[in-house]
Amino acid sequence: MASKSKHRQNPAPPDLDTFIKKARKYARPYRVGEGKKFRLKDVDPGDTAGIGSEAKPQSEEALQNGVRALATLQDMLYAQDRWALLLIFQAMDAAGKDGAIKHVMSGVNPQGCQVASFKVPTSEDLDHDYLWRCNRQLPERGRIGIFNRSYYEEVLVVRVHEGLLGKSKIPPGLIKKDIWDTRYRDIRSYERYLANNGVLVRKFFLHISQKEQKRRFFERIENPEKNWKFSASDVEERGFWKDYMEAYEEMIRETSTEESPWYVVPADNKWFTRVVVAAAVIDALDSLDLRYPKVGPEKLRELAGAKKALLAE
Ligand code: ATP
Ligand code: MG
Repeated sequence: MASKSKHRQNPAPPDLDTFIKKARKYARPYRVGEGKKFRLKDVDPGDTAGIGSEAKPQSEEALQNGVRALATLQDMLYAQDRWALLLIFQAMDAAGKDGAIKHVMSGVNPQGCQVASFKVPTSEDLDHDYLWRCNRQLPERGRIGIFNRSYYEEVLVVRVHEGLLGKSKIPPGLIKKDIWDTRYRDIRSYERYLANNGVLVRKFFLHISQKEQKRRFFERIENPEKNWKFSASDVEERGFWKDYMEAYEEMIRETSTEESPWYVVPADNKWFTRVVVAAAVIDALDSLDLRYPKVGPEKLRELAGAKKALLAE
């Protein structure tokens, strides 16, 4: 897609266009559009797009520049106040969701950004349909909303531990054999509805290997500063690895669309994960028709009047 930046009214930093092009190059290989043929085994969690670890300092610099480019785009999103961007993060434990969110969003105006984390549903949550708690956290127009986990847990953890379905308050007669297909279909419809209303959805699966997860768990156990991050239940969930991978693969096949794509991001190297996520967010914002609002003749007269009054003081 051609860059929209030449149509922008206010000159953006000179390197913004270069960054947008670079971002597209980094993000596109990991984007799953229409997902029917997607296979998880085709994505290597250790992939770094051929960039060796010796190039890490450059990639960190690239990330910082990317974060600046993102801030510029977000400023336009906010000023224009028409579109909202929803970023959804899903992953196995210790894949680096929190770090990716923290780094990628570090440069953006906090007023234009909101993060919601979805944990085990509360009794109030269970008193509603499963989209309810997420729907009320959707970003306003002009903002970037981040979901740290989301309604996708309903076809992941709930699928791996089907007993959870019984704990929900869904009328038992509605829990049928085809419940997962029903959920995929409902999620696709929901995301189409969002797209039709100006909420752009981008979904990220941070794909870590089982081996790297083990290494990170050991780090959490052995490093006192990381002890707080460790939870014994994470080790239990690890025991269901294969089931989770099957659930992730099917979820991506069934819910990735050109309109609301999944990005399957290699997550064994945190620096690379962050570069790809930042790049995908830049690419998403660039796909919108972002521009600073043009003021009308009345506003121009008001500005001229105010200028005159200030000069006359
Ligand atoms: P971190 O461990 O990095 O702090 P986290 O996202 O893993 O972050 P936790 O509080 O450890 O946060 O875990 C949240 C848990 O809630 C996950 O195990 C997740 O599977 C679970 N969860 C989220 N949504 C649902 C749901 N709809 N039904 C059941 N469990 C859910
Ligand atoms: Mg956890």
